[in-house]
Amino acid sequence: MIVGGGTAGWMAANLMAHRWRDRDVSIMLLESDAIGTIGVGEGSTPYLKGFFKSLGIDESEWMPACNATYKCGIRFPRWSTVPGYESYYHPFFSPLDREIGQVFFENVRRRRSGIDTPANPTDFFHAPFLSSNACAPHPEKPLPFELDYGYHFDAGLLGRFLREKAKAAGVEHLIDTVSTVERNGENIEAIVTEKSGRIAADFFIDCSGFRALLLGGAPDYRFRDFSRTLFNNAAVTVQIERDFSQPLLSETISEGLSSGWMWRIPLQNRTGCGYVYSNHYVSPDAAETELRKTLGLPESARVNHLKMRVGRAEEHWQGNCLGVGLSQGFIEPLEATALMLVQFTIEHFLEAFRFQDTEAPGPHKKTVFNERINQLFDGVLDYVAGHYKLNSREDTAYWRAAREEIVISDRLQALLDCWDNNGDVDRLLEQAGAELVYSRASWYSLLAGMGRFPRNLRPADAAVAREHQEVRRFCTGNLARFRQHQTQLDSLRQSV
Ligand code: FAD
Repeated sequence: MIVGGGTAGWMAANLMAHRWRDRDVSIMLLESDAIGTIGVGEGSTPYLKGFFKSLGIDESEWMPACNATYKCGIRFPRWSTVPGYESYYHPFFSPLDREIGQVFFENVRRRRSGIDTPANPTDFFHAPFLSSNACAPHPEKPLPFELDYGYHFDAGLLGRFLREKAKAAGVEHLIDTVSTVERNGENIEAIVTEKSGRIAADFFIDCSGFRALLLGGAPDYRFRDFSRTLFNNAAVTVQIERDFSQPLLSETISEGLSSGWMWRIPLQNRTGCGYVYSNHYVSPDAAETELRKTLGLPESARVNHLKMRVGRAEEHWQGNCLGVGLSQGFIEPLEATALMLVQFTIEHFLEAFRFQDTEAPGPHKKTVFNERINQLFDGVLDYVAGHYKLNSREDTAYWRAAREEIVISDRLQALLDCWDNNGDVDRLLEQAGAELVYSRASWYSLLAGMGRFPRNLRPADAAVAREHQEVRRFCTGNLARFRQHQTQLDSLRQSV
């Protein structure tokens, strides 16, 4: 029994129906028509490619249906004030970056030791591809490497698409509202709904959003609050029409505002925008005014205010209940990681779950599972917290506090100390391994991208300038092997 029909619920329904297609299992998804879905969550990491691949769904099928676009990374203007680093870029990495990446890593290393080398990731990774807005491999011009990417999509359309897929795979869909949950110790025996009465099941998946209707009522439920590390607890969102006179971007823009940041997510027909802020520093009304002013919105534009609960459950799988999605936890959407956590949770659960577990739950297996999911949440938390810790803005109390007052993990502190003292960051990242979740290239992008370097630099020799020239030539030379974003999307539509 899956409770909740947001993106998490329908992703779980599809993956479970697919994995258990040869078993005698019946899956029901229940959602309320009185309680809506969160209605946001429109950017992904490249991990989502694996979701569609495992279900055998082609881009030509789902992308046009969800007004989806390609995403090569995230740009962060107005987080750093260091000259030359006012806007940095976190790309999705691929074999291309492994080729030119070595030059980037070496340049960063030199700059950390005081030599004036070009070390802004924005200049290096995909820069020519982004500036020309080319993003998808050209089908007639084979590539010597693959360019990794994620997606932007309309959350409502994706939900509908996944619902139809799940129903076609045999998932039963019931519209009703859960009023109470019947428990027996740590297990759930049944839910009681307003119209259909009592519904019993062997296993329950809680996809009820921030309410955490099932998981949150478990006898030993504990929630780890992240609000001392990540201050933001609210968002105000709006959708604006696409400006067809401008090229379609293949990146999310996450721009620092006065007391938080604003995303711009380009879809085929519109741009989704949202200001993520802390209501300790700006009121919802003032945040809305700032959003309206920044985007030049007309009075008539309808905005939506949301609250966010930032943190995670200590145990995502408890008794015969698994929390998936906002019910299990949430880290603010700066790196668009929520659906990656959803997918990872379901995939790992499907690996760990054995049908006899419903009668005799294996406590050890659950412990290992819960630790693994917590490790992923905490690693993402470190990476997102790093953005705030490294900001150099002085203009508002919010940005100063985000740098000076947030509580960060010992792990992140050790990494920053090592970086600042020109220590062996590569070894530290290698030792931390999976704990730091993000790759070396991502950490380098963040740390170098914010311009965290010594100030009195010595000039580099001519060899460095030549190396940089070669990278640019390599990128520009490969540009012809990529298609314009819009051309690629049009060809997907035509191939349906
Ligand atoms: P919801 O969408 O809230 O769905 C909850 C479901 O539970 C609904 O169907 C509701 O009807 C049902 N329900 C609740 N109570 C009951 C009841 N009593 N009886 C029956 N049914 C019930 N994620 C990303 O990956 N990328 C992003 O860019 C991103 N941006 C975000 C921006 C913001 C501001 C926020 C807040 C989140 C963002 N997320 C993002 C997270 C993403 O939106 C969610 O992870 C995703 O939508 C999944 O939500 P959900 O399905 O867990 O919950």
